Amino acid sequence: MSRIVYVNGEYVPEEDAMISVFDRGFLFADGVYEVSAVINRKLVDNDAHMARLARSMNELKMTPPGTAEEIEAIQLKLIEENDLNEGVIYLQVTRGAADRDFAFPIDATPSLVMFTQAKSITSNAVAEKGISVITVPDIRWKRRDIKTVGLLPASMAKQASVEAGAGDAWFVEDGIVNEGSSNNAFIVTHEGKIVTRHLGTEILHGITRKAVMALAAQENLEVEERAFTPEEAYEAREAFSTSASAFVMPVVKIDDHVLGNGVPGPVAEKLRALYIEMATNG
Ligand code: PMP
Repeated sequence: MSRIVYVNGEYVPEEDAMISVFDRGFLFADGVYEVSAVINRKLVDNDAHMARLARSMNELKMTPPGTAEEIEAIQLKLIEENDLNEGVIYLQVTRGAADRDFAFPIDATPSLVMFTQAKSITSNAVAEKGISVITVPDIRWKRRDIKTVGLLPASMAKQASVEAGAGDAWFVEDGIVNEGSSNNAFIVTHEGKIVTRHLGTEILHGITRKAVMALAAQENLEVEERAFTPEEAYEAREAFSTSASAFVMPVVKIDDHVLGNGVPGPVAEKLRALYIEMATNG
């Protein structure tokens, strides 16, 4: 069955959706995006996603295609139109269509495209077993705090993990783990401390990262925001990653190093359960 997608003011079957060949998202990756989870037909932590979207657009001097309220109304309509019980909603904003020129056009109208993906997030066989990750050099640009559609390095990293028989790739730069290909990376030390890289322009400021850190604090688990090396990760008691589309994903192997006894650790499992509860019950 074909989805109903949203393109610049219209709700259309996906095969009828059209965007200009001169759209700057296509020509220059001149666009930003957001992904919000939907559980039981409700958006999860959507205000935080809308706030990050506004920040991404502002950093790139893009004209917003609408207010957060207007965008949320479209998200809700897409949930309804597509009868989406559980999954994700993508929203892509580009600077719009203009004759090809590197400089920003003065009068382009931003493009807004939104689509749903049905997906089982809360009950996921992969999360029950945990995934292995490989480390790869971080070859991305230097403003990873802006959620742009320039995702080729992330796509290449993910592909490298597929070819290595792993579930994901973690980006390493100057000897430290920045984040996963499309998620934030965490380890749990033998002292039971949860460690994730400190914020900066080097990583995306994950909405799920923040929520999971708050849940950990509520459980009196200690969280340290600091750099950690792949070597420290190899020796960690457990590891996991966080994202809006997978919530908390246990990591059981990093490169050739199996963590603990190779099954999801108790901290990752606890945080996953707490996050699912929050997302389900609001
Ligand atoms: N880092 C990167 C590079 C990502 O692409 C994502 C997911 N889009 C994340 C982190 C996780 O962010 P969030 O929890 O807001 O989905």
